[in-house]
Amino acid sequence: MNCYYHKDKDRAAECINCGKPLCRACSAYWGANMCTDCIKKIAVKKRNIFLLRLAAVIAVTGALFYLFYCKMGSTAPINALTAFFGGNEPRRKTALFIYALACIPAGLRASFTLGRWFAGIYDLTGRAVMLCFVAVIAGGILLGAAAVPIYCIWLLYGVIKYNFTVKAAKARLAKLKNIERKRKK
Ligand SMILES: [Zn+2]
Ligand SMILES: [Zn+2]
Repeated sequence: MNCYYHKDKDRAAECINCGKPLCRACSAYWGANMCTDCIKKIAVKKRNIFLLRLAAVIAVTGALFYLFYCKMGSTAPINALTAFFGGNEPRRKTALFIYALACIPAGLRASFTLGRWFAGIYDLTGRAVMLCFVAVIAGGILLGAAAVPIYCIWLLYGVIKYNFTVKAAKARLAKLKNIERKRKK
């Protein structure tokens, strides 16, 4: 059988994800022994996960802040901005405190991601996992206010990175199709 994308080239390998036959150039192209269709499919999935998580973090944190600061404090959202950036120190402290509270759920999620990554790298087991778990919860609550903006930037970076891969894969698929069409003529 010949390469799935180049019908005139011999099979040299196969996609490790779906088993499509690939020529040498196609199997090396993405540096992952995967066909372009699978690269695209996986990148689309990952991009959507990052996008969904980013939307969820912003929605949950924003909704909690709105609930605690605007709804319970009976104040307009614009007043929150002036509380943060205006000169009134007690008002700024209140707004920051409520912001830190609103960041707890997303902070826990960010801390969990970091903790899982850490436990994976250092191959933690038993008591170390428990300690890591406690650190994750403490980190999420104490550092949520600082972690949430960084988490959002990291999620946005993931969206952009995987979207770039999706575009590159689409461009390669179009190019391969063109080459095949010309060859057939
Ligand atoms: Zn494949
Ligand atoms: Zn090929």
